[in-house]
Amino acid sequence: MKTEKRPLSIYVHIPFCARKCLYCDFLSAPADEQTKEKYVRCLTEEIRQNSTAFGEYEVQTVFFGGGTPSVLPAENIGDILKEIRQDFVLNPEAEITIEVNPGSADLKKLRTYRDMGINRLSIGLQSAIDEELKALGRIHSAEDFFETYNNAVKSGFNNINIDLMSAIPGQTIESYRETLKRVLSLNPLPKHISAYSLIIEEGTPFYENTPPLPDEDTDRELYKITNDILKVAGYHRYEISNYAMKGYECRHNKVYWKRGEYLGFGIGAASLIKNVRFSNIRDISEYMETLDYSKIRTDRQELSVEEQMEEFMFLGLRLIRGILFREFEENFGKSVEEVYPRVIGKLKEQGLLTEICDEQGNRTGICLTQFGLDVSNRVMAEFLLT
Ligand code: SF4
Repeated sequence: MKTEKRPLSIYVHIPFCARKCLYCDFLSAPADEQTKEKYVRCLTEEIRQNSTAFGEYEVQTVFFGGGTPSVLPAENIGDILKEIRQDFVLNPEAEITIEVNPGSADLKKLRTYRDMGINRLSIGLQSAIDEELKALGRIHSAEDFFETYNNAVKSGFNNINIDLMSAIPGQTIESYRETLKRVLSLNPLPKHISAYSLIIEEGTPFYENTPPLPDEDTDRELYKITNDILKVAGYHRYEISNYAMKGYECRHNKVYWKRGEYLGFGIGAASLIKNVRFSNIRDISEYMETLDYSKIRTDRQELSVEEQMEEFMFLGLRLIRGILFREFEENFGKSVEEVYPRVIGKLKEQGLLTEICDEQGNRTGICLTQFGLDVSNRVMAEFLLT
């Protein structure tokens, strides 16, 4: 009898960048060729050693993130993918994404990605205004982005995400509109757009020396503009900061928001398997000296039922469709209202939450209102139980 395999997502962390951007607190840094080569060898070893416990799974999505995965030679990405194919059952229709930065992925590299089965690209544009890119410390120009995008299309990619950023130093409502206008002049249009605000993180040059930033009202206005303009262009907002054409939502990221199971490889990579969260060590030298890759996993945290419920709520509410009462009950054997007797009523009264009903008018779930989306962090905090 054929048994259903459990769905699994794989994240591969490539911690290298050509240069560090001024706002970036991701685990990434420039490195020499030798280090990069060695890291890739270690990654394939980690994948090989840690795959044995996953025979009951089928991989539905793979995501190469970073850092900038495209700073590696394409053959390195091919080696990692080959290892995943050898050690795991990879669904033939799996979504396989790689993050690329303009200027680090030429036509040849993009064609090689396509040939090895990568079917989704995520391009870090941030802004189509050169002064704003410079202010962020990005190495590329708007022109570089357009070249990369056109090469990606020529290479046969039709599922492309573009990352945009708001609240950039010096950005105005007009300049942000201009960025959106340029993105929407692309032919064909990208299938997916992520639009995040700049956050000043501790330990970054921007934290030490914060440049003048657009105020909160302007930032909120930028979010509204994104929503309005992308809607007219045929995108639907399916998560607080993510927009897609129908059928092109990022399957990999949806696994995070829906608390599916995922396994991270490489330094700092996080995993969630059978309600246990863990992450890999962050020190690259230590990672590359390890012989036993079961020992690099740290922060092992077995989630209590309360923690699982909290996560279900604050991750699920990030999705515009909200959370479904039925799914909560299937997971926890209790109704949402039983667990959160007062919070839901209070947030509804404050206009932050609203009910979802089916065609017959039955209440099926709850989601954030427009106001709730604007102040989502405040809403999510209400769902903490522990
Ligand atoms: S390219 Fe991305 S990961 Fe690399 S330094 Fe810039 S923001 Fe950070």
